[in-house]
Amino acid sequence: MSEKPVHAPLIQFPVVDDELVVGGIPLRQLAAQIGQTPFYAYDREAITRRVRELRETLPDGISLHYAIKANPMPAVVGHLTTLVDGLDVASLGEMRVALDSGMPAGEISFAGPGKGDPELRGAIAAGITLNLESSGELERAIRIGETIGVRPKVAVRVNPDFELKSSGMKMSGGPKPFGIDAELVPAVLRRIGESGVHFRGFHIFSGSQNLRPESLIEAQNATFQLAYRLAEDAPAALEMLNIGGGFGIPYFPGEQRLDLSSVSENLQRCLGECRAHLGDVEVMTELGRYLVAEAGVYVCEVVDKKVSRGQTYLVTNGGLHHHLAASGNFGQIIRKNYPVVTAHRVNDAPRELVNVVGPLCTPLDLLADRMELGQADVGDLIVVLQSGAYGYTASPHQFLGHPQPLQVLV
Ligand SMILES: *Cc1c(COP(=O)(O)O)cnc(C)c1O
Repeated sequence: MSEKPVHAPLIQFPVVDDELVVGGIPLRQLAAQIGQTPFYAYDREAITRRVRELRETLPDGISLHYAIKANPMPAVVGHLTTLVDGLDVASLGEMRVALDSGMPAGEISFAGPGKGDPELRGAIAAGITLNLESSGELERAIRIGETIGVRPKVAVRVNPDFELKSSGMKMSGGPKPFGIDAELVPAVLRRIGESGVHFRGFHIFSGSQNLRPESLIEAQNATFQLAYRLAEDAPAALEMLNIGGGFGIPYFPGEQRLDLSSVSENLQRCLGECRAHLGDVEVMTELGRYLVAEAGVYVCEVVDKKVSRGQTYLVTNGGLHHHLAASGNFGQIIRKNYPVVTAHRVNDAPRELVNVVGPLCTPLDLLADRMELGQADVGDLIVVLQSGAYGYTASPHQFLGHPQPLQVLV
């Protein structure tokens, strides 16, 4: 027999009569209400709970921003707007979603390399803070600001001289397309000062999907130290310091939930020290997946069940075209199974070793590789957990031309 992958306690939802309940509705009933599969469902209450718990854990003095690329569904962003202090966007499209959500422009920041002139113009006109990724971007922002008669608000995104260790995705240290190399920042600050744009502070984001408190603490400490050093050359007092985030969630067998208590204690200490160095500055953390990933499920339906040379295949109407990350093709080096369950046979029912695949003509279209699931037959629903972030919008929907999944916030 092949190994039985054991996942960390990942189910964030109630299980009633062995059926998963999302948004207060048993999953098969929810599917009937939606009227089609596949779909993504995001649990409003689970998002609220996550933010509340995080606020209780983190020190009071820290603001919480949501990086909407994790899940830009307008209903989700609208809900989070009522819970967090600001939004971070990375494109004109995300900027529109953020502004439409009702979040004040003054609490929205825009990071991302390669901002085009239309994006810079839109952000400057709206009063959104640009997290500058290069000196060229600063020059274009200055010119656009003059042309449209609005003073750009800018923060400098720094590519630090350290990296976030054990990060799922490293976004700093060494040569990177993100941010301005720390050693080049003083010159950029001088230019900001002489150009008269509105300087707001620094954005130092060093990585993503980290489950190790020690690494997060090390990166936080280095981030604050770097900010103090760079602030010496700042043209004005810092209004804000965005220290990034990088809090991960457990996806794969053996991964444990991130314990934030030590991270939070350290942050408390850093905040005190920060007041001494930088005075009354707003310190913010920006999180994407940590706020939404565990609140979402992807649900597809078994269309065919077949046995091939001793292995059982559940062929579903969902797959990598809807959920690239769960297929293992979005940032994974060695493919591992996302947590998957049969919707109405979560824990108790007779179990079966199966492969869950999609309808695409490629062996990459795999949602579960030899997993033991509650027995499922044609017409039953298969659920991929941990799917509230980097799911719907991070997948190639057009590939093979199957219908798009729906998204609901319940
Ligand atoms: C992607 C990204 C985030 C969000 O990362 P998560 O792992 O989803 O928390 C935050 N900030 C920036 C600048 C990003 O590029």
